[in-house]
Amino acid sequence: MTTTVSAYAANSATEPLTRTTIERRAVGPHDVAFDIKFAGICHSDIHTVKAEWGRPNYPVVPGHEIAGVVTEVGSEVTRYKVGDRVGVGCFVDSCRECDNCRAGLQQYCTGSGMVGTYDATDRDGTPTYGGYSTAIVVDENYVLRIPDSIPLDKAAPLLCAGITLYSPLRHWNAGPGKQVAVIGLGGLGHMGVKLAHAMGARVTVLSQSLKKMEDGLQLGADEYYATSDPDTFRKLAGRFDLILNTVSANLDMGAFLSLLETDGTLVELGAPEKPLVVPFFPLGIGRRSLSGSMIGGIPETQEMLDFCAEHGVTPEIEVIDASYVNEAYERVLASDVRYRFVIDAATI
Ligand code: NAP
Ligand code: ZN
Ligand code: ZN
Repeated sequence: MTTTVSAYAANSATEPLTRTTIERRAVGPHDVAFDIKFAGICHSDIHTVKAEWGRPNYPVVPGHEIAGVVTEVGSEVTRYKVGDRVGVGCFVDSCRECDNCRAGLQQYCTGSGMVGTYDATDRDGTPTYGGYSTAIVVDENYVLRIPDSIPLDKAAPLLCAGITLYSPLRHWNAGPGKQVAVIGLGGLGHMGVKLAHAMGARVTVLSQSLKKMEDGLQLGADEYYATSDPDTFRKLAGRFDLILNTVSANLDMGAFLSLLETDGTLVELGAPEKPLVVPFFPLGIGRRSLSGSMIGGIPETQEMLDFCAEHGVTPEIEVIDASYVNEAYERVLASDVRYRFVIDAATI
């Protein structure tokens, strides 16, 4: 039997999110059911709801930074038991058979593709609904274990913002002796600063202004510059091995590519509505690379959670009641987030 649970949903691109109810499937043999305790607000939720990536299937129940406590497990479940602290990130299934799925890169599934935690179609043909709700049912293979030392409210943003920065930092070998820049000090960006610092890299924040400089340095940045100051681009030309762009809007890509060393890489993590414009010369000169990266697979997400527990890395959060979600969206859009809003699911 399905279960009816409370949720916050968007019914169109222009209306505020409102409280509603949704159905969660009956717990199958391989499923884990859990009570959601906290759900982070990712800028991707806003892009989706506002139809900036194409028209979603309304109603959309956003939320792919989900943390909670297991309430029921299916008969075949081996990894989790009732009472366990668990999380779910951006996807709840994938084909499980393609080379990427077998390699633990489920986010790059080349079979049927990853099944998004919301605004996707599940294996059983029903729409998926995300974390702005009070409970969820997910196959155990797509559930993460939250280490005991990480509180659930702080664990939630790790499931998207955390892994989205951890994965490229690892892939491009951030560590001692590496110069890493993070563009944009929002939800993703502040996790990039903390993680790159914990990995031993030298970290520079490139923010629109110096407003958040004190925070940035406290989060672990070694240097902090305003991109509104043209001097920044003169001073930092050719400096970085790795630049992680977390900005949700379109930037002057040429200006930022010029900050890379020879053979350096700029990884695009932000997913703006409009295509990136990339001029040739700042890319060709210095054989620089422009790449992209999307979240991380299940094994790497678990590795990230364990790394965060070991190094004491957790996000800076502002816990809010669900009724504040529309104002929180406005504040994210105004770059007025310090540094992730997290919904207390008890208020949904
Ligand atoms: P966020 O909290 O809103 O942070 C974005 C930051 O970008 C802002 O805090 C601001 O930082 C900067 N910014 C915003 N508008 C800007 C503009 N017009 N010009 C220059 N800088 C601007 O958003 P988020 O949740 O971190 O997500 C960021 C982007 O990553 C979104 O597009 C989201 O969809 C995408 N995303 C991608 C992945 C992936 O797997 N690749 C995963 C999650 C999210 P300052 O105030 O410091 O300048
Ligand atoms: Zn996200
Ligand atoms: Zn696959």
